[in-house]
Amino acid sequence: MKYNRILLKLSGEALMGNRQYGIDNDRLKEYAAEIKKVTDLGCQVAIVIGGGNIFRGLAGAATGMDRVQGDYMGMLATVINGMALQGALEDAGIFTRLQSAIEMDKVAEPFIKRKAVRHLEKGRVVIFGAGTGNPYFTTDTAATLRAIEIDAEVILKGTRVDGIYDSDPEKNADAVKFNNLTYDEVFEKDLKVMDMTAFTLSRENNLPIIVFDMNKAGNLLKVVQGENVGTLVNLERVEL
Ligand code: UDP
Repeated sequence: MKYNRILLKLSGEALMGNRQYGIDNDRLKEYAAEIKKVTDLGCQVAIVIGGGNIFRGLAGAATGMDRVQGDYMGMLATVINGMALQGALEDAGIFTRLQSAIEMDKVAEPFIKRKAVRHLEKGRVVIFGAGTGNPYFTTDTAATLRAIEIDAEVILKGTRVDGIYDSDPEKNADAVKFNNLTYDEVFEKDLKVMDMTAFTLSRENNLPIIVFDMNKAGNLLKVVQGENVGTLVNLERVEL
């Protein structure tokens, strides 16, 4: 294995499968099976999940809702997704803990870094819910923050696209994929990897980012084993 401790970021929208809203149970089961392939090898897995399949603060604000109120609703949505993923992982035979940045002791532990690390060392998958616990942030920023806090070696951004392209591959058939980029190149080329707050935090702390297609079976395992899947963003170019 190339990576022994990873932070996997999944978007809320990924949980919708083919639906327009909410959570698709088949997708949850697929993700649980993919995650089991790497925990079976002894890889320590922490997960941050988004809430976009249920609610986004910015979308609420666009319709006249108070932004801060909407952001807290979005954070609570990530806890719902975290609980759903937790259930699927436990069904697959994986021990888990859900830690929330907003305290709600009936459903989740509070976020405590040392406890999270201890869980990981014991082979439990730790899901971090409620984002950073603060409005005006995203779950990409929460994922980066938690990855740094728990000393994850890499943040794996699981998407429905197989990496970073020079233009949107869903709109442009001639889009070219990058295998490896430096943080500076992402800035120079103005590529969309994560939001600026999250990206800057990764760069300042030299946390490598891999963007890959989480919906393709076996991809997560390949990434963890160091295969050239997706796009790696780090400090210096590496031969892949
Ligand atoms: N959110 C927040 N603070 C955080 C993380 C998330 O306020 O630290 C809110 C914000 O409203 C965001 C929503 O939760 O729109 C859902 O998260 P996100 O949009 O990152 O989910 P994803 O796009 O990954 O599904």
